Amino acid sequence: MTSMVHGRGEGQPAADNASAAAALRALPSTDQLLAAADDLLEAHGRQETTAALRAALESARERIRAGAAVAVTSAELLAEARGRLVARATPHLRPVFNLTGTVLHTNLGRALFPESAIAALTEALIHPAALEYDLASGGRGDRDDLVNPLIQELTGAEAVTVVNNNAAAVLLLLNTLAKGKEVIVSRGELVEIGGAFRVPDIMKRAGAKLIEVGTTNRTHLADYEAAITPRTGLIMKIHTSNYAVVGFTKSVGTLELAALAHRHGLPFAEDLGSGALTDMTRLGLPKEPLPQEALADGADLVTFSGDKLLGGPQAGLIVGRRDLVAKIKKNPLKRCLRVGKLTLAALESVLRLYRDPDRLTATLPTLRLLARPAADIRAQAERLRAALAPALEGAWMLDLRDTASQIGSGSLPVERLPSTALVIAPAEKKGAGGRLKRFEAALRGLPQPVVGRLQDDALWLDLRCLRPEDEARFVAQFIAQFAPGK
Ligand SMILES: *Cc1c(COP(=O)(O)O)cnc(C)c1O
Repeated sequence: MTSMVHGRGEGQPAADNASAAAALRALPSTDQLLAAADDLLEAHGRQETTAALRAALESARERIRAGAAVAVTSAELLAEARGRLVARATPHLRPVFNLTGTVLHTNLGRALFPESAIAALTEALIHPAALEYDLASGGRGDRDDLVNPLIQELTGAEAVTVVNNNAAAVLLLLNTLAKGKEVIVSRGELVEIGGAFRVPDIMKRAGAKLIEVGTTNRTHLADYEAAITPRTGLIMKIHTSNYAVVGFTKSVGTLELAALAHRHGLPFAEDLGSGALTDMTRLGLPKEPLPQEALADGADLVTFSGDKLLGGPQAGLIVGRRDLVAKIKKNPLKRCLRVGKLTLAALESVLRLYRDPDRLTATLPTLRLLARPAADIRAQAERLRAALAPALEGAWMLDLRDTASQIGSGSLPVERLPSTALVIAPAEKKGAGGRLKRFEAALRGLPQPVVGRLQDDALWLDLRCLRPEDEARFVAQFIAQFAPGK
């Protein structure tokens, strides 16, 4: 198709009124375009297609009036409408390639679901499900009971209640146990998690008064004990999951704090954040505190996320003493923060996988990515270098570099996982900054956007999270976009 849209160069006279009027008259009508748009009508429906054709016509009229076009064909108008329709039909929640090096990337949706959870979700989507219906008695059931037995089995907790996320879990716990009362927390544990979860703010919203004890680097048991008053409602420990205080430090462990709280007739709660349910060292990862350990050490309640190291859906779990969980479930806020059937379907099937801990790195995608051997990633990097080099030849330098992936979502902040990155930089220094930025943006504009990280004047694509089964698709869209002549 030869283009009939002609640009108007600098200094050229504006198209005269007569020829613009002729071009406007020559435009097809919406009905004429509709008659030639069967495929668009089939794919997008009459309302969407008509609106897109009208928009294409309107933009053509504007170009003609501005003198930027002397004639526009029906084929061009249909093509423009098609582009608009495809853009409108593209979901806003797009799958991407996460090559940032952060496995549990909060902005990229954290944990990935195992097949079994997808199957459970599908069932729950298609059929009515016994969400709050006791099939044994035919009476009303409790949605938390869907996961209660598994949580008991895996953590030793007497009871569980599930809410929208761990931030909600902490809010609900504090509001139930410590509204109008004081909560004692170490100064070294007043964490901020990305996205505005700050312990002091949540405390305030929950109606509890924060009593800070100790110092940033050192808090002793005596500091907690001295802060206990008749107004104390709770002692709380918060896992400093996204930072580490190193050097001259002291914090008080669960065992001692729980004993202290119980001596004074107070409950003790621990916010673990990451929600690791299995010993991470078995997967070759650094040690993370487990809810089952905190409970065994005397914690009355423990809260954690469903979509961090647990590897499941976004959720917050409050597990522990039956009487306290019952109290929490009676709080009207629980009704506001509860989860739906999709979350519970996915959570139940993910928890079930923990019955076979030996195979978790095969069954749970998040743990598979975290435990992925460095040699696998290196071999994949070599394959990709060979596949992508011809497309980048000349203008770009492509290197393989050792790098360190992060677990992310505030888990295990200090420990890093050895990985390999494709490192792409402009071959020529002049204008390199701008070219690199445009290249990075172009990768984000691919059909399945590629998200890497800019570092040291290069684009780093950490391959830890590129599943081997997605490799061919990654290569194909890269070459389609960047091969010479494109
Ligand atoms: C991540 C985290 C939270 C917040 O959990 P979300 O599930 O993201 O709401 C709270 N506390 C700690 C210690 C965390 O690590």
